[in-house]
Amino acid sequence: MQNTNEPSFRESVEIMFNRAVALMDLSPGLEEKIRVCNATYTVRFGVRLRGEIKTFTGYRSVHSEHMEPVKGGIRYSMGVNQDEVEALAALMTYKCSLVEAPFGGSKGGLCIDPREWEEHELEVITRRFAYELAKRDLIHPSQNVPAPDMGTGEREMAWIADQYARMNTTDINAKACVTGKPLNAGGIAGRVEATGRGVQYALREFFRYEEDKAKAGLSGKLKGKRVVVQGLGNVGYHAAKFLSEEDGSLITGVAEWDGGIVDPNGIDVEALRSWISENGGVKGYPDGTYLENGALALEEDCDILIPAALEGTINLTNAERIKAKLIIEAANGPVTSGADDILREKGVVIIPDMYANAGGVTVSYFEWVKNLSHIRFGRMQRRQEEARHQLVVDQLEALSETLGHTWDLAPDFKTKYLRGADELELVRSGLDDTMRIAYQSMRKVWHGRDDVDDLRTAAYLVSIEKVAASYRAKGL
Ligand code: GLU
Repeated sequence: MQNTNEPSFRESVEIMFNRAVALMDLSPGLEEKIRVCNATYTVRFGVRLRGEIKTFTGYRSVHSEHMEPVKGGIRYSMGVNQDEVEALAALMTYKCSLVEAPFGGSKGGLCIDPREWEEHELEVITRRFAYELAKRDLIHPSQNVPAPDMGTGEREMAWIADQYARMNTTDINAKACVTGKPLNAGGIAGRVEATGRGVQYALREFFRYEEDKAKAGLSGKLKGKRVVVQGLGNVGYHAAKFLSEEDGSLITGVAEWDGGIVDPNGIDVEALRSWISENGGVKGYPDGTYLENGALALEEDCDILIPAALEGTINLTNAERIKAKLIIEAANGPVTSGADDILREKGVVIIPDMYANAGGVTVSYFEWVKNLSHIRFGRMQRRQEEARHQLVVDQLEALSETLGHTWDLAPDFKTKYLRGADELELVRSGLDDTMRIAYQSMRKVWHGRDDVDDLRTAAYLVSIEKVAASYRAKGL
């Protein structure tokens, strides 16, 4: 439980923002302009369900319109409130700026427990919410482009896209009104895995620098590193899966709402995920050790901790007991500003949310571009690329024949080299490039300035500088 003496989520984001701007040379007016949330729209709408009218409360907050459209997910949760959507919208501004996704920041939420409703009921509710937002241009391909967040996914995005298209029958760009859609409804390959994939790429980039690892008291490769993940939802699951399957890391702990599983030999992520989807939680999972209090898994001795659930889960009540050397914030705002102070003091390195979970919005950006260009990535180049590679391979084989077959191309080189990149490969390459470049921009500030000793402040500095530059360019 979070300590009630701690600031709210929005205040916590502001404290971190303030710490960074204190090191900058912005005019007080511009500083204030960037800090404040431009607008938050609250809507209460009634839907006739189960024989009565049910009223729902929803929000869409726009933090900064220095670039348009503004971008950010829509969350379905009973915990949604104005403070939360405003904090999340601010983080979207900084996140988009840091990874150079050309958007301002926004976020939406609906107070609802999706598990309480049947699919057809959720569809009616979602369409009605989308109608309320679209009517005010809070869903619009060039103004405001939502995406999935906690409690929503491809299905909800498809309903939103369809609702918008019905209301704007002649808009040729209607599909670009929302991202995170299923592939057959204008989505892009690799969007579902994108945030988890981004976490993996972020860690890989961090591990490329000896100096950075040394700051966290780590060395070597990701292989064999002990990783604890909080929340095996879309983000946590994909991050854990990729790290264990592709990088050889050991998932030694998983924290879920109904308890935790710890296993020093490594948890089989796929098996645990299927257990959760069949049984609703981790309780009863046959392998590893079950912890009644899932939050205790966060305090396990490990190398890397990945909070991938709610905000504020690492706070004043548990920060002191966190043993991880490196925390990568896959969720938005998992570490409160108070906990951040404690952890920095302890020498824990934190890869901040605005960078760590930016994989989602990065691939959303690719989807939006795909929708506006009305063509799948790779469709024009793929076979041409293959034909050119074939030319090289033919030439090399002819040479080898002339030389009496004294050497040959390895068969797996041929298959790999000949294959032109499809959409998924291009998306992964674009995401990898984005994560590497953004990390490099942060570490330059982290190592380059004497007054910056953490990656979060570095991330804020890089990001706010870019937002400020675009306000200045606008003449503000
Ligand atoms: N909800 C995700 C986030 O917090 C994705 C936002 C988007 O793709 O626009 O970053």
